[in-house]
Amino acid sequence: MPETKTKTQEILEIDALHNSGLWAPNIVFTHGKGVKIYDAEGKEYIDCLAGIAVASVGHANEHLANAIAEQAKKLMICSQAHGSDVRAAFYKKLNEFLPTEMGLNRIFMANSGSEVNEAALKWARASTNRNRFVSAKRGFSGRTLGTLALTWEKKYREPFEPLAYENDFIKYNSIEELDKYVTTDTAAVLLEPIQGEGGIYPAKKEFLQAAREITKERGALLIMDEIQSGVGRTGKFLASEYYDIKADMVTLAKGLGGGFPIGVLAMTEETALSMPKGGHGTTFGGNALASAAALAVLEEIESKNLIENAKNVGDYFMQELVKLNSPKIREVRGKGLMIGVQFKAKVAPYIAALKESGVMTINAGATVIRFVPPLIFTRNDVDAVIDKLKGIV
Ligand SMILES: *Cc1c(COP(=O)(O)O)cnc(C)c1O
Repeated sequence: MPETKTKTQEILEIDALHNSGLWAPNIVFTHGKGVKIYDAEGKEYIDCLAGIAVASVGHANEHLANAIAEQAKKLMICSQAHGSDVRAAFYKKLNEFLPTEMGLNRIFMANSGSEVNEAALKWARASTNRNRFVSAKRGFSGRTLGTLALTWEKKYREPFEPLAYENDFIKYNSIEELDKYVTTDTAAVLLEPIQGEGGIYPAKKEFLQAAREITKERGALLIMDEIQSGVGRTGKFLASEYYDIKADMVTLAKGLGGGFPIGVLAMTEETALSMPKGGHGTTFGGNALASAAALAVLEEIESKNLIENAKNVGDYFMQELVKLNSPKIREVRGKGLMIGVQFKAKVAPYIAALKESGVMTINAGATVIRFVPPLIFTRNDVDAVIDKLKGIV
């Protein structure tokens, strides 16, 4: 009898022949429902990875899927040079979520996190006529040639030098280094309120407040990169809300479309209008389908109180992780459903064991397991994950 291949093997053979060479997948996912995701052999996983903090309202969410399908039958594309009913509805709804006192009422829409960070850097240049930036060690801003200058990880950055911008990397949470490196040549300081890729490190309140004061004093802008922390994940719509700061620009992406590609740069009026006409643009940004998807995600967050849920279930999750009291764990960090568990050793074997047991997670650096599940996560889901963890750590 000829050996029969599994569905997974068949698919991965094709993948191995044609993928870009950047990844070597060993699992195939075919569908999901809520916080569960299923592989090609039908095995079920609790999804604490969610496409890296993307599937905010859960997989195969009815309201989101219907909104996309209905919009696709009506109109998919409408350039930002033309008005769109669904884009206007999205602007309006997003504005209800963005704290009024932050004054971030001007929106540029694109299709990914890097794209809106790119836009923020250009806006900062246009607004200040300066070309230097400040970002943080361990920070991640994207891997396009512009954003890469502000991304810390050397292996991402060094092969592509020289990069587009001069940038100083400061120690995260060091007010002293902010004071030293932010000068009257600085266009903007870009910071994540909670570092995501870098290992789930929340900022100290004094640090972000100092960043606001020092940038203002020296004529530089403050950009908060909330691509991972935004859209309710931390228990507030923006993590910045915990810090009482008003940034000039905030970027959102990952969770905003619930899986549909979209990025948003929200700006103050003054910043937005500093860009010369034609100074930036995009073909797909602000398209009707993305607007419908993001609108549906915000409606779902609102009607199901998902921000509050992220806070409550996140607090419970952190508490249960701490209660594991494992000698292998050094620290549990995070806010809401953006949680990092720092281990004393490399986490790859634990992530593999969790996957084997039916829980998908991802690392954030070599020694941190990241939990960024859909915002619909429940205490029962937490209990199920903790149960699996008990057998592993
Ligand atoms: C993911 C991420 C980005 C890049 O977003 P892409 O959509 O992958 O381009 C930028 N900043 C932060 C904080 C991120 O988490």
